Amino acid sequence: MAIATTSPVTGEVIKSFDELTPDQLEDKLARAAAAAAAYRLTSVEDRAGWLDRAADRLEKDADDVSRMITTEMGKTLRAAREEVAKCVHGLRFYATEGPGFLRDLPGDAGRVGAKQTFVTYQPIGVVLAVMPWNLPLWQAMRFAAPALMAGNVGVLKHASNVPQCALYLERLFREAGFPEDVFQTLLISARRVEEVLRDERVKAATLTGSEPAGRSVGTIAGEEIKKVVLELGGSDPFIVMPSADLERATDVAVRARTLNNGQSCINGKRFFVHEDIGDDFLERFTAKMAALVVGDPMDENTDVGPLATESGRSDVEAYVDDALGKGATALVGGARPDGPGWFYPPTVLTGVTPEMKMYHEEVFGPVAQVWTVSSLEEALEIANGHPYGLGSNLWSEDDDERALFVRDVQSGMAFINGNTTSYPEIPFGGVKRSGYGRELSDLGMREFMNAKTVWIGQDA
Ligand code: NAP
Repeated sequence: MAIATTSPVTGEVIKSFDELTPDQLEDKLARAAAAAAAYRLTSVEDRAGWLDRAADRLEKDADDVSRMITTEMGKTLRAAREEVAKCVHGLRFYATEGPGFLRDLPGDAGRVGAKQTFVTYQPIGVVLAVMPWNLPLWQAMRFAAPALMAGNVGVLKHASNVPQCALYLERLFREAGFPEDVFQTLLISARRVEEVLRDERVKAATLTGSEPAGRSVGTIAGEEIKKVVLELGGSDPFIVMPSADLERATDVAVRARTLNNGQSCINGKRFFVHEDIGDDFLERFTAKMAALVVGDPMDENTDVGPLATESGRSDVEAYVDDALGKGATALVGGARPDGPGWFYPPTVLTGVTPEMKMYHEEVFGPVAQVWTVSSLEEALEIANGHPYGLGSNLWSEDDDERALFVRDVQSGMAFINGNTTSYPEIPFGGVKRSGYGRELSDLGMREFMNAKTVWIGQDA
C-alpha cells in the first residue's frame, strides 16, 4: 500500500510520502538502539515529566490533530476530538501512576531462605509497534505512554494511510523533551516489518490489526524468541435481556455498532436479544440506526462518516451481499450509496446463518447482525462459537444472569450495562483469535519489562 493521505470523502490523494530507504532505516534502528542504552538509566520522575509535557502539548494541538485524524481516516471530527482527549488522559495517567507500577515487588524472604527477595521491573530496550489506522493516535499512544514510562524505546510502523498522524507522534514526543530518538516513526511498508522484527536490536513487538498480520508477526517473533503482544479482530456480542432498560440499551447499541464509522475492534457487532423483547428492541434499534446522519465527517452534525479505505468498503459490501444472497434480510441499509467517497450506510441484518461469511468473521463497518434468542445460555452458545473473543456486552438487571455472563462468556473483556471501551486504568485485550497479551493499566506496562527476580542471602 502506498504511504499517503487519501481522502475517504473524495478518494483523492492529498499527500504522498516516500518510504525510508534501506540506509535510512538502518540509521533509525542504530539511533533507537543507542537511545535505549541511555534512556533506560533515566529517572522515573524525568520520564513522568516528559509524559506530562507531551499531554500539555497535545492538548494545545488538539484542534489541528483532530482535523488531521478526520482528514486521514474519515472518522467524525467529534469522534476525533474524543480520541485526542483520551490520549491526553492516557499520557497523564501513566505520568501519575507509572512510578507506582515500577516499584519493586517484595517477596517472602523467609520462605526461600533469603535475607531479602523482590522482583524489580526493568525495560527491555527497543520495542516495535505495528499499528492500525482506525484510532490512529490512541492505538499508538496506548503502546507509547506505558512503554516510554517503563524506560523502553519505541519504533512505530503505522498504517500506510495515516502517515501524518504517524509523523506527528514522533514530533510530539521529541518536542515534549524526551531524549532524541526515544520514539521514532518508520515510514515503511508492511512487507518490511519482518526485517525490523528480525533485527537483533529490536527486542519485542506489539501489533494491533488484522488476524493475518498478527499471524505473520507472531510467527516471526516466535522464531526469533521475542516477546509479542497481539491485539487482533473482534466480533463482540451485545446481549440484551428482558430486565434491561431498553431505551438506554438501544442508544448504546447504536453507538456500539457505529462508533468510529463502525470500524472499531470492540464495536458491538452481533446483537442477541431475548425473544420477550425482540420486537420492541428491533423497532427502537432500527429507527435509531435509520435516523443517523451519514455524511462529511468534518460536519458537526454528522454521525457516521465514510469508511477509511476503498478496499475496506468493498470488504463490507461483499459480506453484506453474501448474506443477502443467502437469505438474510436488511431492515435498514444494505447497499452502498452512489457518489464519491467510501460511504456505507448503517445497516441492520436479521436471519444471518452459519452459511454466511459474516457469521464467522468480522465486518469492519456499520453493519449489525441481530438474533432473537430464548435464553442467555443460547446467546452465549452462539456468541462463544465465534473464533474471536475480544470484548462482550450484557444488558441485564438480574444478578444471576450477570454472574453467568461473567463466568461463561469467552472474551478478554466483559462489560455490563455500559459500552465496551478502553480505559488506561483497566486492562485491554482478547482471547482466542483476538490475540494475546494485555495493553493498558499496570499489566500493559509490564508486558515489555524484564521482571527480574532478586534473591539476597543471609549476611555471613
Ligand atoms: P491490518 O491490515 O492488519 O493493518 C494493521 C497494521 O499492520 C498496519 O500498520 C499494516 O501496515 C500492518 N500490516 C498489515 N499486514 C502486515 C503483515 N503481514 N505483517 C506485518 N504488518 C502488517 O489491519 P487493518 O485492516 O488496517 O485494521 C483493522 C483490523 O485491526 C481489524 O481486524 C480490527 O479488529 C483490528 N483492530 C484490533 C484492535 C485490538 O485492540 N484488538 C484495535 C483496533 C483494530 P499497512 O497499512 O502498511 O498495510
